[in-house]
Amino acid sequence: MLPNKRGKIALISVHGDPAIDVGKEEAGGQNVYVRQVGEALSRLGWQVDMFTRRSDAQQEKIVEHNSNCRTIRLTAGPAEFIERQKIYNYVSDFVSAFFDFQHETKTIYPIIHTNYWLSAAVGKEIRQRQQVKTFHTYHSLGAVKYKSVTTIPMIASTRLNIEKKCLENSDVVVATSPQEKQHMQTLVSTKGNIDIVPCGTDIDIFGKVSRNESREKLDIDSDAKVVFYAGRFDPRKGIETLVRAVGKLDLERYANFKLIIAGGSTSGQKDGREKERIEGIVRELELETVTTFVGQLEHSTLASYYAAADVCVVPSHYEPFGLVAIEAMAAGTPVVASAVGGLQYTVVDRETGFLAPPKNEEAFANAISRILDDSQERDRLGKAAKKRVKSQFSWTGVAKQLDELYLEELGRLHQEFLTSNVVS
Ligand code: UDP
Repeated sequence: MLPNKRGKIALISVHGDPAIDVGKEEAGGQNVYVRQVGEALSRLGWQVDMFTRRSDAQQEKIVEHNSNCRTIRLTAGPAEFIERQKIYNYVSDFVSAFFDFQHETKTIYPIIHTNYWLSAAVGKEIRQRQQVKTFHTYHSLGAVKYKSVTTIPMIASTRLNIEKKCLENSDVVVATSPQEKQHMQTLVSTKGNIDIVPCGTDIDIFGKVSRNESREKLDIDSDAKVVFYAGRFDPRKGIETLVRAVGKLDLERYANFKLIIAGGSTSGQKDGREKERIEGIVRELELETVTTFVGQLEHSTLASYYAAADVCVVPSHYEPFGLVAIEAMAAGTPVVASAVGGLQYTVVDRETGFLAPPKNEEAFANAISRILDDSQERDRLGKAAKKRVKSQFSWTGVAKQLDELYLEELGRLHQEFLTSNVVS
């Protein structure tokens, strides 16, 4: 039995279900973050309910992660997959379902922690209807994202407006990196109470297997040079830059070269279309024989790929944090990443890997070959990477920092409650 002394907290993640498999369209870092934070908080004694939208009629309505932590799937719109842009239409249904749940279970959550702007819209409505302390993690900022895309979606002004109000009105906004905090202050609003609490990773999963063991398990030759990517198929992830960088390498110098790309996709959906586009570039550059698409992998298998790789590449155009980078680092593998957002915080240039300007194939090719050409350098960077993750990025450490912030706000809420009930 887990301790149960802190009180109740609702984590709200409308589109990122913490109980489903990740690595596909609409299921990535946010799902991992909410689940890991929720479970770690529950171990500290919080009773954590993680609310998400039911997106499949076959899904269970409640998933119990442990005696203190559940995923609760609320009905908001049809119980089927809906693209993120369109979920906003069901925000008020989500809010109603949340209040119905509180009513039916005779529960009031004094703290809610929302994730992504869709959940910020939910948080805004809850705040208007009950006394509550609100926390928010953005996971992505429209103000930054829209700078790097060619087509701005219709929903943009709604999103930007909600993100601004959320920063100005939440009790605490959690930035996952100093870079994200700076973006909030310069691009969203100068008002707001921001604390920096990074993301974490599970060193017991990602840091426990060696390169040799993993290569044996995955049937990769010990002399192979392996470049690895893991993540969703989304143009903002910059997989094109990686493939074009590999196209610039002098592959004849390596007897046995492999580019391995992990991540799920569904044909006909957005990620399926991006995967086909990437396959087209692989063909255009005649890289078919050295490139393998291994599909969506579970964390235990992913751990072997990270460890087997000489280098993991994170070529995103924009990345508020980037869990993949610290997962690879936990495995002792250096990372070559775009010098954007939180990647500039997790990857220390020349110490744990290399940073390159986003979309710059030439710079990525140079950085990748520096690691492939020098295994001593690879090992030096990998060792420092692992050390950095161990000391800075554990979920338990993250939960402890959040725990302090919640307790502080809970204390304030009690004070406010007492003050508002004093008869003068
Ligand atoms: N992931 C996975 N299987 C895959 C590909 C990715 O489990 O096949 C996970 C990966 O381990 C990481 C998450 O998906 O935990 C991606 O998070 P990140 O922050 O890197 O990117 P996001 O999806 O938030 O853009």
